[in-house]
Amino acid sequence: MCADPVRRFLEDQDPPTPCLVVDTDAVAARAREVRSAFPGALIRYAVKANPAAPVLDALVAAGIGFDVAGPAELALCLERGAAPADLAYGNPIKKPRDIAFAFERGVREFTSDAPADVDHLGRYAPGSAVSIRVVLDAPDSVTPFGRKFGCEPAEALDLVLRAAALGLRPGIAFHVGSQQPDVAAWEIGIATAAKLFAEAEAQGVAMTRLNLGGGFATPHRTAVPSLATYASKIAAALETSFPGRRPALMLEPGRVLVADAGVLRTEVVLVAQRGERRWVYLDIGRYNGLAEAENEAIAYRFEPVGPHDGPAGPVVLAGPTCDGDDVLYQRTPYELPLSLTTGDRLDLPGTGAYTASYASVAFNGIEPLRTHCVGRWGDA
Ligand SMILES: *Cc1c(COP(=O)(O)O)cnc(C)c1O
Repeated sequence: MCADPVRRFLEDQDPPTPCLVVDTDAVAARAREVRSAFPGALIRYAVKANPAAPVLDALVAAGIGFDVAGPAELALCLERGAAPADLAYGNPIKKPRDIAFAFERGVREFTSDAPADVDHLGRYAPGSAVSIRVVLDAPDSVTPFGRKFGCEPAEALDLVLRAAALGLRPGIAFHVGSQQPDVAAWEIGIATAAKLFAEAEAQGVAMTRLNLGGGFATPHRTAVPSLATYASKIAAALETSFPGRRPALMLEPGRVLVADAGVLRTEVVLVAQRGERRWVYLDIGRYNGLAEAENEAIAYRFEPVGPHDGPAGPVVLAGPTCDGDDVLYQRTPYELPLSLTTGDRLDLPGTGAYTASYASVAFNGIEPLRTHCVGRWGDA
Protein backbone atom coordinates (compact mmCIF):
# COMPACT_ATOMS: atom_id res chain seq x y z
CA MET A 1 0.00 0.00 0.00
CA CYS A 2 1.41 3.32 -1.05
CA ALA A 3 0.72 6.60 0.80
CA ASP A 4 0.90 8.81 -2.27
CA PRO A 5 -2.61 8.81 -3.82
CA VAL A 6 -1.24 9.17 -7.35
CA ARG A 7 1.08 6.17 -7.04
CA ARG A 8 -1.67 4.22 -5.28
CA PHE A 9 -4.05 4.90 -8.17
CA LEU A 10 -1.43 3.79 -10.69
CA GLU A 11 -0.70 0.64 -8.68
CA ASP A 12 -4.33 -0.31 -8.02
CA GLN A 13 -5.87 0.61 -11.37
CA ASP A 14 -2.97 -0.02 -13.71
CA PRO A 15 -4.63 2.32 -16.25
CA PRO A 16 -3.87 2.12 -19.97
CA THR A 17 -0.93 4.32 -20.93
CA PRO A 18 -0.12 7.01 -21.62
CA CYS A 19 -2.03 8.84 -18.90
CA LEU A 20 -1.67 11.70 -16.49
CA VAL A 21 -2.75 11.32 -12.87
CA VAL A 22 -3.33 14.53 -10.89
CA ASP A 23 -3.79 14.80 -7.13
CA THR A 24 -6.42 17.51 -6.56
CA ASP A 25 -5.55 17.72 -2.85
CA ALA A 26 -1.99 18.61 -3.84
CA VAL A 27 -3.36 21.34 -6.13
CA ALA A 28 -5.43 22.77 -3.27
CA ALA A 29 -2.44 22.61 -0.91
CA ARG A 30 -0.24 24.44 -3.39
CA ALA A 31 -2.95 27.08 -3.84
CA ARG A 32 -2.86 27.72 -0.09
CA GLU A 33 0.94 28.01 -0.25
CA VAL A 34 0.78 30.55 -3.07
CA ARG A 35 -1.83 32.58 -1.21
CA SER A 36 0.21 32.70 1.96
CA ALA A 37 3.44 33.50 0.07
CA PHE A 38 1.75 36.54 -1.50
CA PRO A 39 -0.68 37.79 1.15
CA GLY A 40 -3.31 40.17 -0.18
CA ALA A 41 -2.50 39.52 -3.85
CA LEU A 42 -5.28 38.42 -6.20
CA ILE A 43 -4.34 34.98 -7.53
CA ARG A 44 -5.63 34.15 -11.01
CA TYR A 45 -4.73 30.62 -12.14
CA ALA A 46 -3.70 30.48 -15.81
CA VAL A 47 -6.20 27.86 -16.99
CA LYS A 48 -4.16 26.73 -19.99
CA ALA A 49 -1.67 24.99 -17.67
CA ASN A 50 -4.28 22.33 -16.87
CA PRO A 51 -7.98 22.88 -17.54
CA ALA A 52 -9.26 19.56 -16.10
CA ALA A 53 -12.57 20.19 -14.32
CA PRO A 54 -11.46 18.62 -10.99
CA VAL A 55 -8.37 20.85 -10.98
CA LEU A 56 -10.57 23.92 -11.45
CA ASP A 57 -12.93 22.64 -8.74
CA ALA A 58 -10.06 22.33 -6.26
CA LEU A 59 -8.93 25.88 -7.07
CA VAL A 60 -12.44 27.34 -6.80
CA ALA A 61 -12.70 25.69 -3.38
CA ALA A 62 -9.33 27.20 -2.43
CA GLY A 63 -10.61 30.67 -3.29
CA ILE A 64 -8.41 31.15 -6.34
CA GLY A 65 -9.59 33.10 -9.41
CA PHE A 66 -8.74 32.39 -13.05
CA ASP A 67 -6.77 33.93 -15.87
CA VAL A 68 -8.58 32.98 -19.08
CA ALA A 69 -7.35 33.28 -22.65
CA GLY A 70 -10.69 33.24 -24.46
CA PRO A 71 -14.39 32.43 -24.36
CA ALA A 72 -14.03 28.65 -23.99
CA GLU A 73 -11.83 28.86 -20.88
CA LEU A 74 -14.08 31.61 -19.55
CA ALA A 75 -17.24 29.52 -19.96
CA LEU A 76 -15.48 26.52 -18.40
CA CYS A 77 -14.52 28.50 -15.28
CA LEU A 78 -18.06 29.85 -14.85
CA GLU A 79 -19.40 26.32 -15.28
CA ARG A 80 -17.12 25.14 -12.46
CA GLY A 81 -18.53 27.82 -10.17
CA ALA A 82 -16.02 30.68 -10.45
CA ALA A 83 -17.48 34.15 -9.97
CA PRO A 84 -17.09 36.54 -12.94
CA ALA A 85 -15.40 39.04 -10.60
CA ASP A 86 -12.66 36.45 -10.03
CA LEU A 87 -11.84 36.10 -13.72
CA ALA A 88 -9.20 38.05 -15.62
CA TYR A 89 -9.02 37.99 -19.41
CA GLY A 90 -5.24 38.01 -19.65
CA ASN A 91 -4.72 37.31 -23.34
CA PRO A 92 -3.70 40.51 -25.14
CA ILE A 93 -4.67 38.90 -28.48
CA LYS A 94 -8.48 38.77 -28.62
CA LYS A 95 -11.36 39.37 -30.99
CA PRO A 96 -13.73 42.25 -30.30
CA ARG A 97 -16.64 39.80 -30.11
CA ASP A 98 -14.78 37.76 -27.49
CA ILE A 99 -14.24 40.93 -25.43
CA ALA A 100 -17.98 41.61 -25.67
CA PHE A 101 -18.74 38.00 -24.67
CA ALA A 102 -16.54 38.33 -21.57
CA PHE A 103 -17.96 41.72 -20.62
CA GLU A 104 -21.50 40.46 -21.00
CA ARG A 105 -20.70 37.62 -18.58
CA GLY A 106 -19.35 40.02 -16.00
CA VAL A 107 -15.59 40.05 -16.59
CA ARG A 108 -14.11 43.47 -15.78
CA GLU A 109 -10.37 42.73 -15.75
CA PHE A 110 -8.36 42.64 -18.98
CA THR A 111 -4.78 42.86 -20.23
CA SER A 112 -3.78 44.75 -23.37
CA ASP A 113 -0.59 45.69 -25.20
CA ALA A 114 -1.65 47.47 -28.42
CA PRO A 115 -3.59 50.63 -29.30
CA ALA A 116 -6.26 48.81 -31.37
CA ASP A 117 -6.98 46.37 -28.54
CA VAL A 118 -7.24 49.23 -26.00
CA ASP A 119 -9.76 50.85 -28.34
CA HIS A 120 -11.72 47.58 -28.57
CA LEU A 121 -11.79 47.37 -24.78
CA GLY A 122 -13.00 50.96 -24.50
CA ARG A 123 -15.83 50.10 -26.84
CA TYR A 124 -16.80 46.55 -25.77
CA ALA A 125 -15.77 46.50 -22.09
CA PRO A 126 -16.46 50.07 -20.94
CA GLY A 127 -15.13 51.09 -17.55
CA SER A 128 -13.12 47.88 -17.10
CA ALA A 129 -9.72 47.53 -15.46
CA VAL A 130 -7.05 47.14 -18.14
CA SER A 131 -3.46 46.28 -17.37
CA ILE A 132 -1.02 47.41 -20.03
CA ARG A 133 1.50 44.62 -20.58
CA VAL A 134 5.10 45.70 -21.09
CA VAL A 135 7.86 43.62 -22.59
CA LEU A 136 10.96 43.47 -20.40
CA ASP A 137 14.64 43.56 -21.09
CA ALA A 138 15.13 40.69 -18.68
CA PRO A 139 16.72 37.23 -18.65
CA ASP A 140 14.98 34.65 -20.88
CA SER A 141 12.96 31.94 -19.20
CA VAL A 142 13.20 28.26 -20.21
CA THR A 143 10.20 28.77 -22.54
CA PRO A 144 10.49 32.47 -23.46
CA PHE A 145 7.86 34.54 -25.30
CA GLY A 146 10.32 36.43 -27.51
CA ARG A 147 8.70 39.67 -28.70
CA LYS A 148 5.20 38.29 -29.28
CA PHE A 149 3.64 40.03 -26.27
CA GLY A 150 3.99 43.35 -24.53
CA CYS A 151 4.66 46.87 -25.75
CA GLU A 152 7.92 48.69 -25.14
CA PRO A 153 7.84 50.62 -21.86
CA ALA A 154 8.17 53.84 -23.92
CA GLU A 155 4.87 53.02 -25.66
CA ALA A 156 3.15 51.84 -22.48
CA LEU A 157 2.61 55.35 -21.13
CA ASP A 158 0.70 56.26 -24.31
CA LEU A 159 -1.49 53.18 -23.88
CA VAL A 160 -2.11 53.99 -20.22
CA LEU A 161 -3.21 57.52 -21.12
CA ARG A 162 -5.26 56.22 -24.04
CA ALA A 163 -7.04 53.73 -21.77
CA ALA A 164 -7.72 56.39 -19.14
CA ALA A 165 -9.10 58.76 -21.80
CA LEU A 166 -11.50 56.01 -22.90
CA GLY A 167 -12.81 55.64 -19.34
CA LEU A 168 -10.92 52.40 -18.64
CA ARG A 169 -8.98 51.90 -15.40
CA PRO A 170 -5.34 51.34 -16.39
CA GLY A 171 -2.70 49.35 -14.53
CA ILE A 172 0.57 47.68 -15.54
CA ALA A 173 1.26 44.00 -16.28
CA PHE A 174 4.27 41.96 -17.24
CA HIS A 175 4.95 38.25 -17.64
CA VAL A 176 8.52 37.07 -17.29
CA GLY A 177 8.10 33.93 -19.44
CA SER A 178 7.19 30.47 -18.24
CA GLN A 179 9.56 28.34 -16.14
CA GLN A 180 11.55 31.40 -15.10
CA PRO A 181 14.13 30.49 -12.46
CA ASP A 182 15.70 33.97 -12.35
CA VAL A 183 13.98 36.28 -9.85
CA ALA A 184 15.85 39.22 -11.40
CA ALA A 185 13.22 39.17 -14.17
CA TRP A 186 10.52 40.24 -11.67
CA GLU A 187 12.86 42.82 -10.14
CA ILE A 188 13.29 44.39 -13.59
CA GLY A 189 9.53 44.22 -14.20
CA ILE A 190 8.70 45.89 -10.90
CA ALA A 191 11.23 48.69 -11.47
CA THR A 192 9.85 49.22 -14.99
CA ALA A 193 6.31 49.38 -13.62
CA ALA A 194 7.26 51.87 -10.89
CA LYS A 195 8.68 54.22 -13.50
CA LEU A 196 5.45 54.01 -15.50
CA PHE A 197 3.32 54.60 -12.39
CA ALA A 198 5.28 57.81 -11.72
CA GLU A 199 5.11 58.99 -15.34
CA ALA A 200 1.35 58.38 -15.49
CA GLU A 201 0.84 60.19 -12.22
CA ALA A 202 2.74 63.20 -13.59
CA GLN A 203 0.14 63.20 -16.40
CA GLY A 204 -2.73 63.08 -13.93
CA VAL A 205 -3.50 59.34 -14.14
CA ALA A 206 -3.23 57.49 -10.83
CA MET A 207 -2.69 53.74 -11.33
CA THR A 208 -3.31 51.34 -8.47
CA ARG A 209 -2.83 47.83 -9.89
CA LEU A 210 0.22 45.79 -10.84
CA ASN A 211 -0.04 42.36 -12.45
CA LEU A 212 3.13 40.32 -11.87
CA GLY A 213 2.08 37.55 -14.27
CA GLY A 214 3.13 33.93 -13.81
CA GLY A 215 6.35 32.14 -14.64
CA PHE A 216 7.28 30.53 -11.31
CA ALA A 217 9.39 27.50 -12.10
CA THR A 218 8.96 23.92 -10.93
CA PRO A 219 11.76 21.38 -10.52
CA HIS A 220 12.51 18.65 -13.05
CA ARG A 221 16.14 17.59 -13.28
CA THR A 222 17.47 20.82 -11.79
CA ALA A 223 16.49 22.72 -8.66
CA VAL A 224 14.55 25.98 -8.90
CA PRO A 225 13.85 28.71 -6.31
CA SER A 226 11.18 27.91 -3.74
CA LEU A 227 7.95 29.89 -3.64
CA ALA A 228 9.21 31.49 -0.43
CA THR A 229 12.37 32.67 -2.22
CA TYR A 230 10.41 34.13 -5.11
CA ALA A 231 8.02 35.82 -2.68
CA SER A 232 10.63 37.37 -0.43
CA LYS A 233 12.67 38.75 -3.34
CA ILE A 234 9.55 40.13 -5.00
CA ALA A 235 8.45 41.74 -1.72
CA ALA A 236 11.87 43.35 -1.40
CA ALA A 237 11.73 44.65 -4.98
CA LEU A 238 8.27 46.13 -4.33
CA GLU A 239 9.55 47.87 -1.21
CA THR A 240 12.48 49.33 -3.18
CA SER A 241 10.41 50.48 -6.17
CA PHE A 242 7.18 51.46 -4.41
CA PRO A 243 8.41 52.54 -0.97
CA GLY A 244 5.50 52.72 1.46
CA ARG A 245 2.85 52.60 -1.30
CA ARG A 246 2.73 49.18 -2.78
CA PRO A 247 0.06 48.82 -5.51
CA ALA A 248 -2.68 46.19 -5.41
CA LEU A 249 -1.11 43.00 -6.76
CA MET A 250 -2.34 40.34 -9.11
CA LEU A 251 -0.53 37.10 -9.96
CA GLU A 252 -1.30 34.66 -12.77
CA PRO A 253 0.53 31.47 -11.83
CA GLY A 254 -0.14 28.39 -13.94
CA ARG A 255 2.63 25.83 -13.77
CA VAL A 256 3.50 26.24 -10.10
CA LEU A 257 -0.06 25.39 -9.01
CA VAL A 258 -0.38 22.11 -10.89
CA ALA A 259 2.94 20.72 -12.18
CA ASP A 260 4.03 18.91 -9.02
CA ALA A 261 0.55 17.45 -8.49
CA GLY A 262 0.78 15.32 -11.62
CA VAL A 263 2.55 12.12 -12.68
CA LEU A 264 2.51 10.94 -16.28
CA ARG A 265 2.87 7.21 -16.92
CA THR A 266 4.17 5.94 -20.23
CA GLU A 267 5.03 2.56 -21.71
CA VAL A 268 8.06 1.54 -23.76
CA VAL A 269 6.95 0.67 -27.30
CA LEU A 270 10.31 -0.32 -28.74
CA VAL A 271 14.00 -0.28 -27.94
CA ALA A 272 16.38 -0.27 -30.90
CA GLN A 273 20.12 0.12 -31.31
CA ARG A 274 20.83 2.53 -34.18
CA GLY A 275 24.56 2.88 -34.78
CA GLU A 276 26.13 4.06 -31.55
CA ARG A 277 22.89 5.03 -29.89
CA ARG A 278 20.13 3.15 -28.10
CA TRP A 279 16.75 4.58 -29.03
CA VAL A 280 13.86 4.15 -26.61
CA TYR A 281 10.47 4.80 -28.21
CA LEU A 282 7.68 5.64 -25.77
CA ASP A 283 3.90 5.86 -26.14
CA ILE A 284 4.15 9.54 -25.10
CA GLY A 285 5.73 12.12 -27.38
CA ARG A 286 5.71 15.69 -28.58
CA TYR A 287 2.15 15.44 -29.95
CA ASN A 288 0.25 13.69 -27.19
CA GLY A 289 1.50 15.52 -24.11
CA LEU A 290 5.18 16.43 -24.12
CA ALA A 291 5.02 19.54 -26.30
CA GLU A 292 7.32 21.30 -23.85
CA ALA A 293 10.12 18.95 -24.84
CA GLU A 294 10.37 21.09 -27.97
CA ASN A 295 13.99 22.22 -28.32
CA GLU A 296 14.54 19.99 -25.26
CA ALA A 297 13.51 23.05 -23.23
CA ILE A 298 11.94 21.16 -20.36
CA ALA A 299 13.84 17.99 -19.51
CA TYR A 300 11.48 15.74 -17.55
CA ARG A 301 12.53 13.00 -15.16
CA PHE A 302 11.88 9.42 -16.36
CA GLU A 303 11.61 6.86 -13.56
CA PRO A 304 11.38 3.18 -14.50
CA VAL A 305 8.54 1.38 -12.70
CA GLY A 306 9.41 -1.89 -11.01
CA PRO A 307 12.77 -3.52 -10.47
CA HIS A 308 15.51 -2.58 -12.90
CA ASP A 309 18.55 -3.17 -10.75
CA GLY A 310 21.11 -3.73 -13.48
CA PRO A 311 23.38 -1.16 -15.12
CA ALA A 312 22.05 1.86 -17.02
CA GLY A 313 23.28 3.37 -20.26
CA PRO A 314 22.70 6.40 -22.46
CA VAL A 315 19.53 6.64 -24.55
CA VAL A 316 17.78 8.79 -27.09
CA LEU A 317 14.13 9.23 -26.12
CA ALA A 318 11.47 9.49 -28.84
CA GLY A 319 7.71 9.54 -29.21
CA PRO A 320 5.42 7.07 -30.98
CA THR A 321 4.26 9.00 -34.06
CA CYS A 322 5.42 8.88 -37.69
CA ASP A 323 6.88 12.38 -37.48
CA GLY A 324 10.61 13.03 -37.59
CA ASP A 325 10.26 15.85 -35.08
CA ASP A 326 8.66 13.56 -32.53
CA VAL A 327 11.99 13.04 -30.80
CA LEU A 328 12.08 14.10 -27.16
CA TYR A 329 15.75 14.15 -26.20
CA GLN A 330 18.81 13.47 -28.34
CA ARG A 331 21.18 16.16 -26.97
CA THR A 332 20.14 16.16 -23.31
CA PRO A 333 21.97 13.25 -21.68
CA TYR A 334 19.65 10.57 -20.32
CA GLU A 335 20.54 7.16 -18.93
CA LEU A 336 18.05 4.32 -18.50
CA PRO A 337 18.49 0.68 -17.44
CA LEU A 338 19.89 -1.59 -20.13
CA SER A 339 17.19 -4.10 -19.15
CA LEU A 340 14.44 -1.74 -20.30
CA THR A 341 12.27 -3.37 -22.95
CA THR A 342 8.89 -3.29 -24.71
CA GLY A 343 6.00 -3.09 -22.26
CA ASP A 344 8.01 -1.62 -19.38
CA ARG A 345 6.56 1.44 -17.72
CA LEU A 346 8.13 4.79 -16.85
CA ASP A 347 6.75 7.52 -14.59
CA LEU A 348 7.36 11.22 -15.23
CA PRO A 349 6.81 13.19 -12.02
CA GLY A 350 6.04 16.90 -11.98
CA THR A 351 4.04 16.77 -15.22
CA GLY A 352 0.68 18.23 -14.14
CA ALA A 353 1.20 21.42 -16.18
CA TYR A 354 1.29 21.94 -19.94
CA THR A 355 0.99 18.27 -20.86
CA ALA A 356 -2.63 17.17 -21.37
CA SER A 357 -3.64 20.69 -22.45
CA TYR A 358 -1.07 20.64 -25.26
CA ALA A 359 -1.97 17.21 -26.67
CA SER A 360 -3.16 17.09 -30.29
CA VAL A 361 -6.58 15.67 -31.09
CA ALA A 362 -5.70 12.65 -33.18
CA PHE A 363 -2.34 12.92 -34.89
CA ASN A 364 -1.69 9.38 -36.20
CA GLY A 365 -4.99 8.45 -34.56
CA ILE A 366 -3.53 8.86 -31.11
CA GLU A 367 -6.04 10.27 -28.62
CA PRO A 368 -5.23 13.30 -26.44
CA LEU A 369 -3.50 12.49 -23.18
CA ARG A 370 -6.03 11.05 -20.76
CA THR A 371 -6.20 12.69 -17.31
CA HIS A 372 -7.35 10.91 -14.14
CA CYS A 373 -7.86 13.12 -11.09
CA VAL A 374 -7.63 11.66 -7.60
CA GLY A 375 -8.19 13.18 -4.15
CA ARG A 376 -11.10 15.13 -2.74
CA TRP A 377 -12.18 16.70 -6.06
CA GLY A 378 -11.14 13.69 -8.13
CA ASP A 379 -13.08 11.91 -10.86
CA ALA A 380 -11.14 8.65 -10.83
C1 LIG B 1 0.59 31.19 -19.59
C2 LIG B 1 0.40 32.48 -18.87
C3 LIG B 1 0.57 32.54 -17.49
C4 LIG B 1 1.02 31.37 -16.66
O1 LIG B 1 2.38 31.15 -16.78
P1 LIG B 1 3.10 30.03 -15.87
O2 LIG B 1 4.48 30.04 -16.35
O3 LIG B 1 2.40 28.76 -16.11
O4 LIG B 1 2.98 30.49 -14.46
C5 LIG B 1 0.28 33.73 -16.87
N1 LIG B 1 -0.12 34.82 -17.56
C6 LIG B 1 -0.26 34.81 -18.89
C7 LIG B 1 -0.71 36.02 -19.59
C8 LIG B 1 -0.01 33.64 -19.59
O5 LIG B 1 -0.14 33.61 -20.92
